[in-house]
Amino acid sequence: MQEGGKNWKAGIAEMSARLTIAIDGPAGSGKSTVARRTAALLGYLYLDSGAMYRAVALKALERKIPIEDEAALEALTRETRIELRPPTPEQETAGLKNRVFLDGREVTEEIRKAEVAQAASRLATIAGVREVLVAEQQRAGQGGGVVMEGRDIGTVVFPKAELKIFLEASAETRAQRRWKEHQEKGDKFSLLEVLQEVRERDKRDRERKVSPLVRAADAVLLDNTAMGIEETARLIVFLAHEREAVHT
Ligand code: C5P
Repeated sequence: MQEGGKNWKAGIAEMSARLTIAIDGPAGSGKSTVARRTAALLGYLYLDSGAMYRAVALKALERKIPIEDEAALEALTRETRIELRPPTPEQETAGLKNRVFLDGREVTEEIRKAEVAQAASRLATIAGVREVLVAEQQRAGQGGGVVMEGRDIGTVVFPKAELKIFLEASAETRAQRRWKEHQEKGDKFSLLEVLQEVRERDKRDRERKVSPLVRAADAVLLDNTAMGIEETARLIVFLAHEREAVHT
């Protein structure tokens, strides 16, 4: 009887739907850390779409392709191979959430530089570039059981995601988080410089014509200015369990 009960429970667990969870929000809203932790708690795959824009931006910088040359940048994106893998335990301790490989070369740390972030947000305004990367993201996340974070995941990449979160925090809090990350890496930016960088990137992301950063109508708005990572991730896991029950 007891054995039968166990099997029944295991059967239900296997049957429970593996959701697609979309987390969008501005720079420094805690998306990566929260998404990574949520995926770990649920046993889901974590995918950082911003890392893909950053990787192509790094390649464009290295090849000195001007940001105005949209055709060349689209062609470059098409011939680029990006791979996302889970971090090693050491990388995880160092705060890295996804290993990133650009045409087979590891660029996990390089793509986190401030100049790459700025170049990525410029590159992300090009429709042809987005088209290639969105298709790539849809392929990587197909089948569910995935937490993907970015700017347009709930609106464009996975408009049918069962759970969408729009993560917010005040600009000052977001800048402070980014500044702390820079300090830990030994980058000497002032808090004001980081605040300006965050504001500039936000403005570009929110005002661009293609796939601007907007909250999907059915996304849960979560302001985590006064919340910790663990608390935010556990709240999302709670919402995911609710949706899993509905979609089973
Ligand atoms: O999230 P992260 O800061 O790594 O993203 C870098 C840049 O890539 C963002 O400023 C944004 O312009 C762009 N991006 C995007 N769409 C996504 C993810 C990132 O436009 N889904």
